[in-house]
Amino acid sequence: MKFKNRVVRLRKKYPFMRITEIAAELGATKQRVWAVLNRRGLDTNPPRLKPVLYCVVCGIAILNKQKKRPLCSKECSAKHRYIKLSCDYCTSTIYRLKSEVRRAHELKYQHAFCNNQCYNKYRKEQYIGN
Ligand SMILES: [Zn+2]
Ligand SMILES: [Zn+2]
Repeated sequence: MKFKNRVVRLRKKYPFMRITEIAAELGATKQRVWAVLNRRGLDTNPPRLKPVLYCVVCGIAILNKQKKRPLCSKECSAKHRYIKLSCDYCTSTIYRLKSEVRRAHELKYQHAFCNNQCYNKYRKEQYIGN
């Protein structure tokens, strides 16, 4: 992609991104970025909204008042925290906290179940199978 198109794309995606940030992102000088934006009539000096961060899930600009992890909405924060799995017994979709999944992985626990009933049924079948 051409340099100017990359600049334009970043400006459109991140309306509050500073010229210095765009330059850093593209590995170019501030002057070059400024020239591209100026020629196209795009914002060279966006309003300084502080502190602006970008949602780690969908990438939209958000104000980060609480200095938490940048997430724009409840949906995005749920997506960020949870991981989609399927029950090893009944195969229905279940959502698990990523932290839990990571811990389970560390414990080499490879199965996921929607509840204890599925877990017990699964265990039973395993034993009968043996
Ligand atoms: Zn989001
Ligand atoms: Zn299940």
